[in-house]
Amino acid sequence: MQTDSSIAPMHVALFPSAGMGHLAPFLRLAVALDARGCSVTFISILPTVSSAESSHLSHFFSTYPQIHCMEFHLPRNEPSTASPADPFFLQWESIRRSAHLLPSLLTSISPPISALITDITLTSSIFDAVANLPFSNYVLFTSCAATLALFSYFPITAQSDTFDANCQLQIPGLQPIPNSDIPPPLLLPKNLFKTTVMENGLALMKADGIIVNTFDALEPNTLMALNKGIVVPAFPPVVTVGPLERCSFEHSREGTKQQLFSWLNAQPARSVMYVSFGSRNALSRDQIKQLAEGLEKSNCRFLWAVKSKVVDKEDMVTLGELVGDEFLERVKEKGVVVNGWVEQWGVLGHPAVGGFMSHCGWNSVTEAAWHGVPVLAWPQAGDQRINAGVVERSGLGIWERKWGWGGDNAEVVMGAEIGEKLQEFMNNAGIRVSAARVREEAKCAISAGGTSASSWMNLVERLKSKV
Ligand code: UDP
Ligand code: UDP
Repeated sequence: MQTDSSIAPMHVALFPSAGMGHLAPFLRLAVALDARGCSVTFISILPTVSSAESSHLSHFFSTYPQIHCMEFHLPRNEPSTASPADPFFLQWESIRRSAHLLPSLLTSISPPISALITDITLTSSIFDAVANLPFSNYVLFTSCAATLALFSYFPITAQSDTFDANCQLQIPGLQPIPNSDIPPPLLLPKNLFKTTVMENGLALMKADGIIVNTFDALEPNTLMALNKGIVVPAFPPVVTVGPLERCSFEHSREGTKQQLFSWLNAQPARSVMYVSFGSRNALSRDQIKQLAEGLEKSNCRFLWAVKSKVVDKEDMVTLGELVGDEFLERVKEKGVVVNGWVEQWGVLGHPAVGGFMSHCGWNSVTEAAWHGVPVLAWPQAGDQRINAGVVERSGLGIWERKWGWGGDNAEVVMGAEIGEKLQEFMNNAGIRVSAARVREEAKCAISAGGTSASSWMNLVERLKSKV
């Protein structure tokens, strides 16, 4: 690889995947690269699945006109018959099947790009499509280093004769992962999620580097084991750039958002429990009912972002239909319930917020770490139990393991139990201290001389070089 930066323009193209959990870190990465003097082309995949994605993209491009927008229109592929029929997974599959359209788009960019940063969910198909093009290839891994270790090692071990899907998984150099924490589709015989994870995990080895929104103090052992090639020999460099900061365009408080923050302004310091399961986890109706009961029984102040559908534009049910008008009336002094987009970064940064009941989507975990808000982990699906393990080990929060996975077939956790746990959690002084320590570690990581700040400098140097 040539490293003379004086002759190489630093122009990077970013290729995100579907879902806010993927788009949000890509947008933040784009802004961070722009702030470090990189010229950025951001590829927008259209149409988006959710309204949140399209509104974020339009605000992003109007706020940062210097970032070049390149539209990638998905052709109308035959709908996939693969299971599961999650609209975000199907969109990943559709983008992967359209990868052959990318080279002509990328080679039309002027000045030419020196690097492409691709979302992990698309890696294998994009790497195949761009294999002969003259730029370096990076991956943005949108979960934690622990999930990266799992998804890099799993495709190797799952193909071996000794693999037993009923046993805990021993990744070299790491603590064993209980079978119950592994994303369930990986333990089933064949499904779309498992196939893409396996293909992408193997393709990672071809990357020039893997960018992760984490920091060394949060996952020290895992990062060491990955970077020393203990998990998988000759593994590409893992570049820790976290926590990535919110971009200025995300900071908007008009309309109902203003009311929400006015309500928070009137609450005592650290008294409010923020409850959210991310942008695309819908609780079952029964679980919503029990959670409402639990919040009421806990007697805690709360701000609850409730979702009953995976895709936001399908969420047409009124709050009254979801949680009941009587409930809303009874709790109105203590709680606020919202069924739309909440500006989460701003909420977590508000002095009234003292706890976060979270599904542990990785972006949410990094945002809680940034603000030092203790997490009560209730993972629902995918990588979230792995992420909850990081929350627990780092001291950022606690995890009530017996609450199990979410979804329609999950066992419903009863309101009385939730209420008790919430009360205990909000009175836990120890967890407040350790979450504050994680916040300090996060700030150190991104400050001058910190681990993420140094990784950033190395990354920018490497991005300047051409293949
Ligand atoms: N988010 C938000 N408001 C919402 C729901 C989500 O700001 O009402 C943001 C959240 O702050 C995070 C991202 O959307 O940056 C969700 O990503 P995460 O990995 O936490 O979970 P996912 O939604 O992918 O399950
Ligand atoms: N992931 C991966 N390879 C894949 C698909 C997913 O490594 O082929 C990782 C990725 O980091 C993603 C995480 O698994 O963020 C969890 O996937 P999930 O299905 O929960 O979707 P998400 O919440 O990220 O949209």
